[in-house]
Amino acid sequence: MLTGKEERKWPVLNTLFMCQVWRNSLEVIVFLLVLQKGLKDNFADVQVSVVDCPDLTKEPFTFPVKGICGKTRIAEVGGVPYLLPLVNKKKVYDLNKVAKEIKLPGAFILGAGAGPFQTLGFNSEFMPVVQTESEHKPPVNGSYFACINPKDGGYLLEKYSEKYHDFGFALLANLFASEGQPGKVIEVKAKRRTGKLNFVTCMRQTLEKHYGDKPVGMGGTFIVQKGKVKTHIMPPEFSSCPLNSEEELNKWLHFYEMKAPLICLPVFVSKDPGFDLRLEHTHFFSHHGDGGHYHYDTTPETVEYLGYFLPAEFLYRIDRPKETHSFGRD
Ligand SMILES: [Zn+2]
Repeated sequence: MLTGKEERKWPVLNTLFMCQVWRNSLEVIVFLLVLQKGLKDNFADVQVSVVDCPDLTKEPFTFPVKGICGKTRIAEVGGVPYLLPLVNKKKVYDLNKVAKEIKLPGAFILGAGAGPFQTLGFNSEFMPVVQTESEHKPPVNGSYFACINPKDGGYLLEKYSEKYHDFGFALLANLFASEGQPGKVIEVKAKRRTGKLNFVTCMRQTLEKHYGDKPVGMGGTFIVQKGKVKTHIMPPEFSSCPLNSEEELNKWLHFYEMKAPLICLPVFVSKDPGFDLRLEHTHFFSHHGDGGHYHYDTTPETVEYLGYFLPAEFLYRIDRPKETHSFGRD
């Protein structure tokens, strides 16, 4: 029974009702045209439309739910200041609890974050793909993590539930939550990059230009169908000396080029309403051992993206760092 006296471990500092871009069919059409036009400035071949969400339980997604529809929310938990300049090891979280904090127990959650060092015993990139616990259903953890193999400096991608049975993560995460229902979604196809922006930044900046101070947040999944991407994976040990700049951080991270097909888990917000947000964050996994943090594709001539997205109805900021800085958000 709730006593009302329980200490809230991770304060939900801000909740925001996001800009409504789906109130009527005219707004949806405007939204599609805005995205189409913005992407066309950066890609040779673009097609934006509303479709029925493909069955995400099928290959290549293999998610525990069929879709990304119903009561969509974005949650940013913690932040880069808990990782840099030095790690704060008190900052550990649980996706089942996050689902309750955002008033959606049983939510399907995907996104990008730091792996649960509290369970793994080392630091890693985390790709949450979780149907959280509800009264009716036990939770399902379809998450992956990518880590550096200290023996040879190579990397490993593993399905989290193969060895571990908790729903933890740590330090920071950008999450997109929904009821995991089938339904209408925005399909985005973009081929051959002609501009400088990555796929996600292009959509985010396009929305910022059109919607201005009204933040629009989106999440979902996209596949890099052809080409390669630049990616990073954090080392297994946290840095013992403070990392105080983008340059120091980049010396600490391990960078790789990874090849399609990659299943990406993007979360982005067009404009920070003053919540100290990371505006975009995308991690990815694959079925051939590649996985990590997406920076951009390195093959503009051949790259092909296919994505399914929805705008979020609400934005939640959980356990926002009190002391902050602006580096390490690329
Ligand atoms: Zn990341």
